[in-house]
Amino acid sequence: MQRTERENSDTYRILIVASEMYPYAKVGGLADIASALPAALKKMGHDVRVVIPRYRSIDLERWNAGQTLESMGVWMGDRQEWCSVFELTSEAGVPVYLIEHQLYFDRWGLYHDASMHDYDDNPVRFGFFSRAALQVCKDIGFKPDIVHANDWQTALTLAYLKIWHWDDPILGGAAAVITLHNVAYQGIYPLSFYDYLGLGWQNFTEEKFESYKKINFLKGGIYYADVVTAVSPAFAREITQPYGGFGLAPYLGRRGDDLIGILNGIDYALWDPERDPFIPAHFSVHDLEGKRECKRQLQQAFGLPVDDGVALIGAIGRFVEQKGFHLIAQAIEGILRDMHVQFVILGSGEHYLQDYFWNLPGRYSGRVGSYIGFDDGLAHRIEAGCDFFLMPSLFEPCGLNQMYSQRYGTLPIVHATGGLDDTVQNYDEATGQGTGFKFWQPSPQALHYTVGWAISTYYDRPQHIRAMIETAMTQDFSWEKSARHYEAAYARAIRNKQRLDADAG
Ligand code: ADP
Repeated sequence: MQRTERENSDTYRILIVASEMYPYAKVGGLADIASALPAALKKMGHDVRVVIPRYRSIDLERWNAGQTLESMGVWMGDRQEWCSVFELTSEAGVPVYLIEHQLYFDRWGLYHDASMHDYDDNPVRFGFFSRAALQVCKDIGFKPDIVHANDWQTALTLAYLKIWHWDDPILGGAAAVITLHNVAYQGIYPLSFYDYLGLGWQNFTEEKFESYKKINFLKGGIYYADVVTAVSPAFAREITQPYGGFGLAPYLGRRGDDLIGILNGIDYALWDPERDPFIPAHFSVHDLEGKRECKRQLQQAFGLPVDDGVALIGAIGRFVEQKGFHLIAQAIEGILRDMHVQFVILGSGEHYLQDYFWNLPGRYSGRVGSYIGFDDGLAHRIEAGCDFFLMPSLFEPCGLNQMYSQRYGTLPIVHATGGLDDTVQNYDEATGQGTGFKFWQPSPQALHYTVGWAISTYYDRPQHIRAMIETAMTQDFSWEKSARHYEAAYARAIRNKQRLDADAG
């Protein structure tokens, strides 16, 4: 009952534990969320702090980080590991603690080496980090109401919280929340690591950590969480189904209403057609002339005929199976044969797709442009200059590009899965309403047909397209909105924990 003094308070002390945070260390979308969510929560009046590892790539001087704890002991199994803690303040004013343990984090990459080989001791590195994050609270006297972990890397934080710190004066009152950004990666490791992790063999059961005689970090985190969130409502439903749960469906399904889908927001400071420094002309929902200029310059940049009247389709992303670029590769030539369209494609990844999209402009000169690589500015120019944005992901926990494209008046054409299904309203030919075009089968045929539907709407019903652009550009994808949902999830987690504590007597 440690938290009675704050029971009725509507602001919380929140500890967010993450393995990445923009701009300090980033591999994927998790980093963006770990910086944007705390910023939004802070604005709402919460005392929010973030803990991340101090990777080699984080330049302490550049970020003005000072040492907070010279030496901090962290119990792992029957021994103590020693580390130190640095602290910086994010641009939004959020305190960020960096756990420095040279042996574990002073390395080339976050998760793998330069040849893409995962570090063999990742369970040790992230097990240690997960426990160290809690020790920071104890050593600096930060008494959280909420401990919020993210994905498998920090899932064990919640297990340590509930197994070892349930009666601790600093940590005992904290409710546990985990956010699932992707369940395809669960952190499954051999049993030989279990002693080091110090989770107790009595807890090595099928409902907690065991997965076919191995340790499953994410499963354990889900078990100990008072509330589980997933990054979109549709993704939250899909992961309770056998095909979408990657083996965790039964464990997630039994969480019932304590599994909550909350869409990510997008960073309006970075993605705003009225201010974006990457695009050649600015525009708004009231004046789209700048968008036409963006289209002209994009066509020019890719050597396509500059023509306002032809439908221009863009695609950006990692060339991996999840993103469905193989479907684009299977369908695009038929589309080029049957329809009056141009394509621009930006991405990198699997070699066979890189080769294919690299060669395509040579074979369809004046119809297709491509750039193989990673280019942030170009991604903004494609979002701004295209009429349509194609995103046929096989599965998509949330997805960002379809939200960016709507904000830039570029109508998404998507496979209706996860966050894509949640954030795109399908076009209704009878009313002219909607914000994009959806298909339900991830097949080249469905993609071909749906692009055809979008293109015929573009040429035959331009007034509908204009109305859709307006609706798309005025959607609320703000982090403020998402943060309010997290606030409600935190309140629920606190209630759940109080109920459990009361039941335990
Ligand atoms: P995921 O995180 O699964 O890759 P999202 O749609 O959530 O997919 O976010 C991907 C982000 O990375 C978007 O901001 C997108 O524009 C960007 N991105 C992906 N590939 C590239 C690329 N080749 N060049 C520039 N930006 C890219």
